[in-house]
Amino acid sequence: MPLGITDPLFIGLNKLRLGKLKKKKVAPEKLLILFSHCLQNSECPQKIVVSLSNCKRCGKCTVKNILELGEKYKVSCVVASGGGMALEKVKASGARVIIAVACEKELTLGIKGVFPRPVVPITNKRPKGPCKDCEVDTEKIEQALKSICLMPGISKGE
Ligand code: SF4
Repeated sequence: MPLGITDPLFIGLNKLRLGKLKKKKVAPEKLLILFSHCLQNSECPQKIVVSLSNCKRCGKCTVKNILELGEKYKVSCVVASGGGMALEKVKASGARVIIAVACEKELTLGIKGVFPRPVVPITNKRPKGPCKDCEVDTEKIEQALKSICLMPGISKGE
């Protein structure tokens, strides 16, 4: 659990639910990778919030890598420009478990907002300050996928 998430009740409940999931695993279609718009290169003109298919996968930001992980594990990806949009997209997706990339504040709000769905929180990095050209260690996303995503022939799912 990343440092900086500060609501002990929701964090504790979320952790409990995640612990159960790791034993059971979740089918890819019930998972969702959600990330904040601030990961997009600030000079990129592509309207990825409208549709992630608008990303040209040029590699100037980690959006490309996230989309490739989604394809590799057959898990849907969504991007949101704020908390309200993120909640709408989660509800529309029908996902049961969310792997979310954002800042600590948005992750805390998100864990509460989508409760009782469990959230795997992954904190972004902000080398240029908040909300601009943020980065994420995509290895952490892949570790989360490996730990909870049901891969055919490996484990029993929900
Ligand atoms: S990978 Fe390239 S095209 Fe896609 S969002 Fe990033 S900068 Fe834009």
